[in-house]
Amino acid sequence: MSAELLDGKAIANEIKQELGKEVAKFIEDTSVVPCLAAVLVGEDPASQVYVRNKQRACERVGIDSQLHRLPAETTQAELLDLVDQLNASSEVHGILVQLPLPGHIDATKVLDAIDPAKDVDAFHPDNVGRIAQGRPRFLPCTPHGVQQILHRSNIPVSGQHVVVVGRSDIVGKPLAMMLVQRDSTLGSAAANATVTVCHSRSKELSSITREADILVAAVGQPKLITADMVKPGAAVIDVGINRTDEGLVGDVDFDDVREVAGHLTPVPGGVGPLTIAMLLRNTLTAAATQNDAR
Ligand code: NDP
Repeated sequence: MSAELLDGKAIANEIKQELGKEVAKFIEDTSVVPCLAAVLVGEDPASQVYVRNKQRACERVGIDSQLHRLPAETTQAELLDLVDQLNASSEVHGILVQLPLPGHIDATKVLDAIDPAKDVDAFHPDNVGRIAQGRPRFLPCTPHGVQQILHRSNIPVSGQHVVVVGRSDIVGKPLAMMLVQRDSTLGSAAANATVTVCHSRSKELSSITREADILVAAVGQPKLITADMVKPGAAVIDVGINRTDEGLVGDVDFDDVREVAGHLTPVPGGVGPLTIAMLLRNTLTAAATQNDAR
């Protein structure tokens, strides 16, 4: 058997087309142009690429973007000042501080300083708490991307055993919180999973992953997930992005797992494009909510 590949790029393009229409209608109705402000500190090459891609995606759907580039030596106080200015700006609806930040800056302090109403990454504790309670303001971009891929590929989540490998605050934990809810923005079929979360201390990882109807790998270790760890026919979603001598690879051993899985996302071209699309969705939501509150 060879797995059906889930084309994240095509799904993201479909979502961006929908968003382009929604943004145009929003601007027509309100004369407000949604705007995302990205903050980039230092010269990390991968971060520069991510920010550029996010800005281009904004342009494509009619969302304005600002880029605030700060040198690596920027102090925490200076960065917090900029966040305060962006919080106060009526032109800016969403704020994104690109991670990682230089080591002398406490990322938690900076992320906590973003106005929750402009926190389009959904990292603020206020937004995380809302997700946990099933009443989100924004959905976190990568977990939402995973949910969208499954939904738009007609892979039901309800009643299925989802195993998430990785418990980060950015991917693993919020994804688990979303999929275990009774309902979702995509309906109840995209939620109601039985969720198991694994991490570096999990014992006998492969015996757990083999139980998964849907296996999500969000670890950051190239080719960690091999065919013997996958139940035949399972849907395997590879969130990992690892730079290796072979180029970009995921956390899943693609050629090996492809022979066993029912569905599989490639890297690149899987979850990555969805993450950006969901950021655009959150920026539009932020603009609409702030406009309603005026
Ligand atoms: P983190 O490093 O924050 O978390 C990694 C998680 O994997 C941790 O919970 C860790 O466990 C767990 N882990 C590490 N080694 C093992 C192991 N051998 N077995 C089981 N679990 C293990 O990473 P992120 O969640 O931020 O990112 C994960 C991957 O996803 C990265 O490759 C990243 O680049 C990619 N990514 C991709 C995105 C996209 O848009 N496609 C967006 C965000 C991330 P413990 O907690 O015990 O340390």
